[in-house]
Amino acid sequence: MIELKNVTKVYDGNVTGVDNLNLRIEDGEFVFIVGESGSGKSTLLKLLMRELTPNEGEIIIDGKDITKLRRKKVAELRRKMGIVFQDYRLLPKRTVYDNVAFALQVIEISPRKIKKSVPAALNLVGLSHKAKSMPNEISGGEQQRTAIARAIVNNPSLVLADEPTGNLDPRNSEEVMEVLEAINMRGTTVVVATHDKDIVNEMQKRVVHLEHGVVVRDSEGDYDDYED
Ligand code: ADP
Ligand code: MG
Repeated sequence: MIELKNVTKVYDGNVTGVDNLNLRIEDGEFVFIVGESGSGKSTLLKLLMRELTPNEGEIIIDGKDITKLRRKKVAELRRKMGIVFQDYRLLPKRTVYDNVAFALQVIEISPRKIKKSVPAALNLVGLSHKAKSMPNEISGGEQQRTAIARAIVNNPSLVLADEPTGNLDPRNSEEVMEVLEAINMRGTTVVVATHDKDIVNEMQKRVVHLEHGVVVRDSEGDYDDYED
């Protein structure tokens, strides 16, 4: 369970990232964070991954206030999370397989476990047949699915994706969202920041709408659904 209580993040120059934000996300939910550019979506995700700490408020993940974690515990926290970026961030000189394996090698998982986990993750994102390809030999959608395989290969309980379809055409976007949905179906909490209305309307999930760092709507279904 994730809970943000009265969370405020102000950047240098007095720019508001999020403003007295309250939000609760249950285990196993699929949540879109939507809003115009500059509304605070990335700030919210960076607070959850503890890339930023707030000026005020508490961020509770699995019962602990992560704003107070020591550095060693931050590494532990990040192991519970799979993170997906708009620009994939793959290693260009490594194969699809090695990109996914690398995530496990850096945290010293045994070669035996790696040999089991990587094919399973590639299978889940539908890329078993591209395991030996280099990133520049596959489509943007396939690159993003490789990045998702890397994010989930260590079985995180939470996946955070910031504009994962931002560089993709509608067809590839749909495939990426289907993969995220499949991951969610297995019980993983998925939080996706996006301003892509078509994707949000297609998926019909919980939609948390930010404006100027404040939650202005929180409803199920379409991007623009609200009751007033
Ligand atoms: P979104 O992801 O919805 O586009 P952001 O969370 O990136 O929004 O940004 C929210 C606000 O915070 C914007 O006004 C943005 O310009 C500002 N901001 C984001 N990052 C920084 C930063 N590192 N320094 C100063 N201001 C920032
Ligand atoms: Mg952003």
